[in-house]
Amino acid sequence: MGALAAAAPAATSAVAAAVAPAAHAAQATTTTAAIPGGAPRPGWTSPVWEVAPFALNQVSLGDGIYKEKRDRMLNYARNYPGTGDLLAGPDRMLHLFRANAGLPAPGTWPGGWDTPNHLLRGHFSGHWMTMLAQCWAATGEEIFLTKLDYMVAELAKVQDALDARNLGRVPGRFGAAVGLSDPHPNQFVTLPNGLTTDLTDATFSAWVNPAAAQANARILTLATSSRVYLALTARVSDAVGPRFAITLDGTGAEQRLDSPVQLALNSWNHVAVTLQGGTGRLYVNGAEVAVATGMTLAPAALGATTSNWIGRSTSNDHALLNAAVDEVQLHGRALDAAEIQALAGGATEVDNAALRARWTFDDEGESAPDASGNGRHATIVGTGYPGYLAAFPEGQFIRIEPPMVQPNSGPNAVWAVWYTHHKIMRGLLNAYDLTGNEDALPILFRMGEWVHSRLSRLTPQGRDSMWNTYSAGEAGSMNEVMAELASHTTDAAQRDRFLAAAKMFTFSTLFNATIDDVDQLNGRHANQYMAPNIGYLRIFEHTGETDYHTAARNFWGMVVPHRTFSNGGAGRSEHFRARGDITSGFTSGSDPRHAETCCAYNMLRLTRNLFFHEPDAALMDFYEKALHNQILSSRRDVDSVTATEVTYHQNMWPGRSRRIGTTVEYSRYGGNGSCCNGTGTESHTKYQETVFFRSADGSALYLNLFIPATLTWPERGFVIAQETAFPAAGATRLRFLSGSGPLDLRLRVPGWARHGYSVAVNGRDQQVDATPSSYVTVSRSWQAGDVVDITMPLSFWVDKALNDKSVQSIMYGPTLMVVRDATPSYREFTFFPQLGLDGDLAASIQPSDASMHFTTHGYLLAPYYVADPVPGQFNSFHPYVKRVEPEVVFRTRTTGVPNDAIRDAAGETFLDRVWAAAPFADHGTFIRQVEAVSKEWFEAGRHTRRQRQDILIAAARSVADF
Ligand SMILES: [Zn+2]
Repeated sequence: MGALAAAAPAATSAVAAAVAPAAHAAQATTTTAAIPGGAPRPGWTSPVWEVAPFALNQVSLGDGIYKEKRDRMLNYARNYPGTGDLLAGPDRMLHLFRANAGLPAPGTWPGGWDTPNHLLRGHFSGHWMTMLAQCWAATGEEIFLTKLDYMVAELAKVQDALDARNLGRVPGRFGAAVGLSDPHPNQFVTLPNGLTTDLTDATFSAWVNPAAAQANARILTLATSSRVYLALTARVSDAVGPRFAITLDGTGAEQRLDSPVQLALNSWNHVAVTLQGGTGRLYVNGAEVAVATGMTLAPAALGATTSNWIGRSTSNDHALLNAAVDEVQLHGRALDAAEIQALAGGATEVDNAALRARWTFDDEGESAPDASGNGRHATIVGTGYPGYLAAFPEGQFIRIEPPMVQPNSGPNAVWAVWYTHHKIMRGLLNAYDLTGNEDALPILFRMGEWVHSRLSRLTPQGRDSMWNTYSAGEAGSMNEVMAELASHTTDAAQRDRFLAAAKMFTFSTLFNATIDDVDQLNGRHANQYMAPNIGYLRIFEHTGETDYHTAARNFWGMVVPHRTFSNGGAGRSEHFRARGDITSGFTSGSDPRHAETCCAYNMLRLTRNLFFHEPDAALMDFYEKALHNQILSSRRDVDSVTATEVTYHQNMWPGRSRRIGTTVEYSRYGGNGSCCNGTGTESHTKYQETVFFRSADGSALYLNLFIPATLTWPERGFVIAQETAFPAAGATRLRFLSGSGPLDLRLRVPGWARHGYSVAVNGRDQQVDATPSSYVTVSRSWQAGDVVDITMPLSFWVDKALNDKSVQSIMYGPTLMVVRDATPSYREFTFFPQLGLDGDLAASIQPSDASMHFTTHGYLLAPYYVADPVPGQFNSFHPYVKRVEPEVVFRTRTTGVPNDAIRDAAGETFLDRVWAAAPFADHGTFIRQVEAVSKEWFEAGRHTRRQRQDILIAAARSVADF
């Protein structure tokens, strides 16, 4: 059996696919030679799909604009960062992971948001693994596999090192101490609730060995909120050492004890605070350093504190404490100076009767028992979760968990920990799925168990409050990878845990509303709530629970068309606008950041996955629009081996460019390490993935996109090439290069192909019902040499903004055509007086010298996807123009009846309605349409009887003009 026969057939489950041999280890045969990388590995497939994709390496791109963009990204993937060292790129991607695990980390990091200390560090490395897997699947070039295999192997070492972290103790003032630090593994200690109950007089004391002179790191926090707390800070500033503070209303209302004495670094210091009546005293190493009278707040005034920590603050602006801590004691009275001096001198027990809690940290493990015998046991956070793999400490995840659910503000906070985790797991999963890297799977299983252990400790309400938090609760498609991972394990209990974990990423409020088709997206972060829908489909595929499918389908319908620009993008400043509101934002100076490229990436993934369940041509119309315009245009037409050169936002303002102010959107954040840099590395290396699909049973082939490509389909024995000059030409050809047998060809009739669509087989016209936005079927037994010619004449048409139909984009077939001009206001165009009976705007548009370039109204019209090919130059353009059609007019025949000033309920003018029925077979058909619309408008009271008469006379007389 050859390697191809061993590959998972179409409808097999992913479990079966998982046991297929590693692709790059498969034996090459004569039939595999055509497929880069050997046996096809399709990635995730579901047995419940109606249609299914081909593996990336079964479809190869032919020459054209898609391949040009793709090849630039291949060049980046081969050569980044341009040093000539094969592993320099992977080493950069590994740097922050290695540093987090305490491993040697030579060199530097990618930059952008993959930078030490905070941001989204690690996420770009995940995208990179996906990019490399896709590059290998597309080309079979060993260089991509070498880099990817190296990254997977090194990440396994990082995971091992994180598992083997010093989870125990460090040498203490007495016996062992707990070593707390950021970024090291032990993050902080969680103390039990109830410590302040009935506590009026009190003593807090601790031994602290600071490793750094941090500002505002907390030794102790007992809090009910970020405004109601008591806190012992290790160091405030150069002038103020330790500070004790208690407040019911934030920092401004703190009652404080400030020490002018600093704690000595890298040695043991004793710190104590006593409270009695209205007097507080602060001691450092047995000496009183501050005293305050008139303190009106006692610990009991805080109520039942729920955020009780050693080493952590309620504010993300404060770093976790970097120190060893030992012998933390709480007494229910104020110890006197002699007793404090005794403690500072080395005593550990001064008044056991008053002792409420004592943590000695002498025992190994996650638990820190209460040595007072009162049962107030503490938990050391950052231990006990094997399988963790990230470029930042685990405590970053804990920050966003209840009870605090800290947002992503502050200099120490990772922005979106689960989002980052998703990218890494997705990259590893693609290494396994697309290249057969067997080493990736055990890493993923351990990560999956870690995910389950992390989330299953929280209540559903607690998880909801996380997922409702912008954008710390952004989790990408974590639910997708967990569900896919469930199909890869043969352990039933593990599969159940992974599926349960996948469901735990559901934000129930929005999910339930979406099932009911109640649109609550206004103001929501677009990607945060878009990406989980991809995972909902996976959960549905596993469980058959239809709510998950319904939610994903309804969500799609809330974005398309209600929030979709003519380039296929959505959102302003990454957020959804109100339903139907397309134009707000790009006519004012408020915010030039529109259509984040990640949104198009995610919507394309969602659309494609929905299509597998329900091959609806409307889905593919949107898919083509977003891929052909926003995604294709997002890659600048220049080469680079140091930057991805992909856009972040795309500016929909009149007269803007892909530069906002001094920031070039391609290289924002240095061109590496932003979210869109990451998704961009993926988008441009998988253009072949949706050109062809097949029915689940292999009896039908779908032609979805008119991109030059060759399909090698070993399961059916066919090799079929698509040859086309599309989008410059309105025609494409399928050529059967080898193979024979019956096959239903399902050929897409795009929504924009409103007339003239035809199909010929070997030169013979076929009878097809070419309804726009549908698929026509041509069935026969095929053989090598057969040729299918599809004609779909390109025409100019307009895509109208939903909320203002006079704001329009000029489209040529599927291609958004932009007006090249730098004036920052709408250009005003008039088309109706020039229209012929075919209704094509081409009557007012003339071809220019260059392919796909035209002129109209004195302006150059250029394809949106042409992206600044001249280094240093940034073309200004207008994606939208203003349509000005003031008078009802038929060629030269004027009527005096206002057109623009009167609109129907849908925002359309009289002439919009008349020409919506174009093309007209003859002038009589045209007249009948004018009469019908005129009657409707007269009856609706929009036109007077006299106006109606003037219109009908002018229309009749226009017969000589057409
Ligand atoms: Zn992005």
